[in-house]
Order: sequence, then structure tokens, then C-alpha cells
Amino acid sequence: MAERMLKFTTVARKTPEKRAASERNGDFHEIYADFIDAKATEQASRCSQCGVPFCQTHCPLHNNIPDWLRMTAEGRIQEAYELSQATSSMPEVCGRICPQDRLCEGNCVIEQSGHGTVTIGSVERYLTDKAWEMGWVKPLVAKADRGQSVAVIGAGPAGLSAAERLREEGYAVTVYDRHDRAGGLLIYGIPGFKLEKEVVERRTQRLADGGVVFKLGFEVGRDATLQQLRDQHDAVLIAVGVYAARDLTAPGSGSQGVVPALDYLIASNRKTLGDEVPAYDSGELNAEGKDVVVVGGGDTAMDCVRTAIRQGATSVTCLYRRDKANMPGSLREVANAEEEGVTFEWLAAPRALQGDAEAVTGVRAIRMRLGAPDASGRQTPEEIDGGDFDRPAQLVVKALGFEPENLPQLWSAPDLKTTRWGTVKADVRHQMTNLDGVFAAGDIVRGASLVVWAIKDGRDAADAMHRYLMTKTGAAALIAAE
Ligand code: FAD
Ligand code: SF4
Ligand code: SF4
Repeated sequence: MAERMLKFTTVARKTPEKRAASERNGDFHEIYADFIDAKATEQASRCSQCGVPFCQTHCPLHNNIPDWLRMTAEGRIQEAYELSQATSSMPEVCGRICPQDRLCEGNCVIEQSGHGTVTIGSVERYLTDKAWEMGWVKPLVAKADRGQSVAVIGAGPAGLSAAERLREEGYAVTVYDRHDRAGGLLIYGIPGFKLEKEVVERRTQRLADGGVVFKLGFEVGRDATLQQLRDQHDAVLIAVGVYAARDLTAPGSGSQGVVPALDYLIASNRKTLGDEVPAYDSGELNAEGKDVVVVGGGDTAMDCVRTAIRQGATSVTCLYRRDKANMPGSLREVANAEEEGVTFEWLAAPRALQGDAEAVTGVRAIRMRLGAPDASGRQTPEEIDGGDFDRPAQLVVKALGFEPENLPQLWSAPDLKTTRWGTVKADVRHQMTNLDGVFAAGDIVRGASLVVWAIKDGRDAADAMHRYLMTKTGAAALIAAE
């Protein structure tokens, strides 16, 4: 084994080829190529096969990283894929968009020893892309019909991961989503340059082919109450994500040209998918030829600035009230945005939007500094007197984060317990809410989080629902026998 592994001292860290900014700025295709076979094998061989693998500990799915790296290094690609998919419902998605620098790779001991982390995410992506190419990804085959049905509300990564496992166990699974396509933020939030749409679509197609029923354009709250779904199914999973966008409070925020991030991204993603998008064609949600200011420092803001570059904006500026070290978005994506021509104004926030109600023309920004830490330990940004500056803007995108919608009210479910942040309360051990047979998973429980956590929660919730439903049938059989 040692011959094939531990090569980190002789083999340099290499990520897959990245397209030059001048080329990638002109389209919405992914910017990284897949590893070629030899590179994946070579990069996997850098792993030192730690006895206590911190990469695995810090992967939310506890993926068996050292073992699938070893198999890859040994050329046992199909086996490596099988092992990798055993703990993840979408390894190729996580390999593309996990913030690895904060999770597995950020905790690789080789990184700590100064040799550059093993490129775990790229190998993970390679394995599953190869599996799709070679036909190793098996169709979803359900076990014998159990005569019980489940409703999954929300076709994002949490809902899809749960649907897959529940269908495998033999339940009739119906996934309800208010959008016209499945995928949640994977399809309508995250742009193609990070995650191409086909990668998501082949996953949802596999579920549909395996008998998962998708009821799209179906909004719980409008088309049914929670109780109505509960009455129709033996168990229900709430996996609806968080969609109440935080708003700008600066004067002038209501002007034409000041738009919510998700509206902007959905329009762009629909265009990539080939849809008619009048608000894009009219210029309302299109950055072409405009100076653009994006307010925020998370993944959403990064996706907006990079989308604006690709739409042909004249200039793109990101205003974030903290500094680079304290931004929530992935540093890899910031580096990509900088290469693509985005200007970052760290420690800056909008004081007022200029122009009139008909059209925004610019942003007056104030300089900030980081003050004393708040209760969570994060330093609070404070305004600096006299630090105002102006940026021209005919399009301002608000990317300040998301909170849960008021589900008890919208769904006529006043008894559904939520936290003081509005997230749904679910028991940490069995993911069940306070309503019998109603479970919850993903962002709606955690607050805005990551795809990998949504997948983990969806899988855990499915297992808990399976246990719950088996207990129910067991109890029913006992009653029948009496
Ligand atoms: P979602 O993906 O939000 O899916 C919820 C689904 O529920 C949606 O399809 C929605 O239409 C549906 N729904 C909502 N309400 C109803 C209703 N009443 N009736 C029926 N259906 C309903 N994470 C990463 O790990 N890496 C990234 O690079 C990354 N980039 C991001 C970029 C953007 C722009 C955004 C917004 C988020 C990003 N995230 C990223 C976070 C990640 O997308 C989320 O954490 C993840 O998608 C949450 O999964 P979910 O299944 O809980 O919810
Ligand atoms: Fe790393 Fe994410 Fe893959 Fe886990 S799922 S190994 S954190 S890329
Ligand atoms: Fe390999 Fe790094 Fe994980 Fe250790 S921490 S097992 S070197 S990938």
C-alpha cells in the first residue's frame, strides 16, 4: 500500500484544469474540467492514510475518504465509486460545490504539514462522473411495495435524498414542489458555472424512473394544507428550505433596479435552461451593459456577482460590511470572482441608494470597521464617520441572506412548532416535529446552510421515517392479531 500512497512529498497538489477567466466569463458552463484518469489516480495517491482521518470527521456525511482515495490510487475506480456513493446521495454534487476549504480539505493533515491538501472534492466528483459515464450508477429499484405512502414537501437536496431512500425501502413516495422543476436551489439558485443543470437533472430523472412521483407546481399553503397532506399519506417530510429574503433598509431601496438575489438568479438559471424569461429580456433582471452593485458576502452574493459578469455587466462591485476573513462565502469562490473581474469593497455597506423611484443610479456606501464581538463571538461591524463613497449602479442586487417563511401561518398549521428564528423544530434524534408523523430536514430546520448538510439531514430523516412507519405497521399487525 505504502508504494501507492503517501506521495504528498513527491507529488504536488493539483486541482483539475480551470478555464481562463477570459474564456469562462462568456458562458455559464462549469469552470473546472473533470480530472483525467491518470490525474485522479496520482492525486489520490498523495493521501497519507491517516489512522484518525480528520477529513472524514469534518465531512458532514462522514464519507469514507481514505478508503476511496486508496482504491482510486490503486486504479479500482468502480469500487471506489461504490464506497463513495454508499454514504452520499449525490457525491458528484458535493464534489463540485461543497466549501471543501472549510470541511474535508480544510482539515487534511497534509495541508497542516504545508504540502497542500489532498484534492478530495475533485476526486469525489471524478468518481461519480466516471460512474455515470461508464453506466455504473444503478437504476433505483424499490423493494416490495409496503402499502404505505409518504409525502415529501420540497424537491431540494434534503427532499430528494430522503425520497431516494424511502423509495428504495418500498414506500410510495410523492414529492411536492412549488417550482416547475425538481432540484430546489441546485436547479434555480446555484448557477451553471458551479453546477451544470444536467448534473442535477440526471439525478431527479433517476428518481422518477425509479417510481418517485413528482407533483410540481404544487404549493403547500395554496394547493393543500399540511393536514390535508398528512391525511393522504402515512408520513410527511417538510424539506422546503428558507426563502424569506432579508431586505435592505437604506433609503431608496424600493427604486426600480433594486432586485432580490433569488429573483435575479432564478431568471438567469431559467435562461440557461432555455425558458422564456420576460423579466430578463426586458432588462429588468439582466445586467448587460450595466454597472452592478451586489450587497452581501455569502454564497448567494458570490453567485450574483459572477452571473452579472457573464451577462456582460460594465462593472461589478460587491459591498460587504465585514472583511474578507469574516465573510461567510467560500474563499475559493471569492478568488474565482476576483479573477473574473469583480471588485470587492470589504468593510462597506450601503447608506442610501441614489436615483429616484423610477431608476436607481448609484449607491452611496459607508465604510465600516469591526468592533467588539457579539454574543455569538462575531465582531460587530460599526460605521466609520466620514468614510462615504459612491458607486454608479443601474442594477443593485440584494443578497443579504434568507430566513424561513412563516409555515404555521401559510400552511394553516398553527400547532406546528417553530423556533424563535422561525425554523421548524425537529427532534435531533428522530427528525420528527411535534406533529405525529410529520418530519423535517434541511435548511428549514438548520436555517440557511449547505447542500451537504441537507443531504445528510434528508438521509437521516428518511431512516427515521422508515423506523416510524415500521413501528406503525408492527403495531397495526399486533392490533389485528388480537
Ligand atoms: P432547497 O434547496 O431550498 O429546496 C427546497 C424546495 O422546497 C424548493 O424546491 C422549493 O421550491 C420547495 N418549496 C418551498 N416552499 C414550498 C411549498 N410551500 N410548497 C411546495 N414546495 C415548496 N450550498 C453549498 O453547499 N454550496 C454552494 O455553493 C451553495 N451555493 C448557494 C448559492 C445560492 C444562491 C443559495 C441561495 C444557496 C447556496 N447554497 C450552497 C446553500 C444550499 O443551496 C442550501 O443549503 C440547500 O439547497 C438546502 O437544501 P434544502 O433541500 O433544505 O432546500
Ligand atoms: Fe468533502 Fe463535501 Fe465530499 Fe464530504 S461531501 S468529502 S465535505 S466534498
Ligand atoms: Fe488522507 Fe488528508 Fe484524509 Fe489524512 S486527512 S486520510 S491525508 S485525505
